[in-house]
Amino acid sequence: MTDSLDFDRRHIWHAYTSITDPLPTWEVVSAEGVRIKLGDGRELIDGMASWWCMIHGYNHPKLNAAIETQLHKVAHVMFGGLSHEPAISLARELIRITPDTLQHVFLSDSGSVSVEVAIKMAMQFWWAQGRPEKNRLLTIRGGYHGDTFAAMSVCDPISGMHEHFRELLPQHVFVDRPLTRPGEDLHKTDAEGIERALSKHHREVAAVILEPIVQGAGGMWFYSPEYLQLVADLCESFDVLLILDEIATGFGRTGCLFACEHAGVAPDIMCLGKAMTGGYLSQAATLTTTRVADGISADGGVLMHGPTFMANPLACAVAGESIKLLLSSPWQKRVADIEEQLNRELLMYQNHHAVSDVRGFGAIGVVQTKVPVPVAALQQIFIDAGVWIRPFNDLIYVMPPLIIASDDLTQLTSAIGTALDSL
Ligand code: PMP
Repeated sequence: MTDSLDFDRRHIWHAYTSITDPLPTWEVVSAEGVRIKLGDGRELIDGMASWWCMIHGYNHPKLNAAIETQLHKVAHVMFGGLSHEPAISLARELIRITPDTLQHVFLSDSGSVSVEVAIKMAMQFWWAQGRPEKNRLLTIRGGYHGDTFAAMSVCDPISGMHEHFRELLPQHVFVDRPLTRPGEDLHKTDAEGIERALSKHHREVAAVILEPIVQGAGGMWFYSPEYLQLVADLCESFDVLLILDEIATGFGRTGCLFACEHAGVAPDIMCLGKAMTGGYLSQAATLTTTRVADGISADGGVLMHGPTFMANPLACAVAGESIKLLLSSPWQKRVADIEEQLNRELLMYQNHHAVSDVRGFGAIGVVQTKVPVPVAALQQIFIDAGVWIRPFNDLIYVMPPLIIASDDLTQLTSAIGTALDSL
């Protein structure tokens, strides 16, 4: 181990790790396209798109240039009383490409914060309507919305962090995750579960919050657009707001620009993050309708949020360029090709002794194993196979940059086969 990695191991926390017993870590020196270069000279094909955000790949000349150009103008400036062109153009573009009813944008610094802001918007809206009793959220199990406190409170209550922070988390209403897969007819039990919960709790519920179609870090589960349509209809009839967390699904990952389009549903509040900047810088957005925004602002009301790094000009500039790059690329075809290839190559493992389920949706492929996998051992197998795939629990999945070439994708799927054989 190099001196730097030894220091890293003893002093630096990585995501969800222990300081005394950390998982193995490798040092990255550079990255280009879909390849990550390690300190020892090895190159890995990236199957994770750095937690799903690096849609155009690494070291992209246009994204680099967007940051460099902005850097010489202004790297950062406070967003209270001051504004700037990168934020204005980004907001204009977000309003243009998201559902028409979303007209107002709050730019913040991470996905979790954008969820906090979404929750504040919903709560403040109902307070302003003179309905303060509408202060709970309703969601489905198996979700993930971030690691800050309000976001954690709507993550899955078992696999999320509720057990660690039980006393501190507000108690929200949970419904079983829908079991209807995309393409199936809506299961009666799924429909009845959400109908029952909303009819019982709507008077105290400010909003339903969901990841549309794709539940990511809570279990990589895909559910039917028909379920989302039903939820949207129920929200409307019970006068409950709908928050869609498109942080993982936004910007093309599922084959639509936003996953809510699969269901033809427009939320009252939408969270965006991750791929918004092409993965270059941390920046997120919460969008809402004029009804919600005007409601919050009535009688001198203000939205109670304002982080130091909101609307960072570098992040806004690279986000604007990333969206331009995406929209001018054949992204639908790329996602469809990745989807078709992942389905074909991963389905081969369906009858593998270690596997319980194989599923895919858009540019996401998932192999679920019968028991949780030994992460450190599999990680080493993947590195030896020249790929970067990071499993969690019983899930081995890929969510590569959208620019990945077919041969590289095959290297990812065959490495999964090697990993499965080791189990
Ligand atoms: N919501 C969803 C659906 C996510 O996938 C994530 C991140 N995995 C978040 C929220 C939190 O985003 P961040 O890590 O940027 O805070």
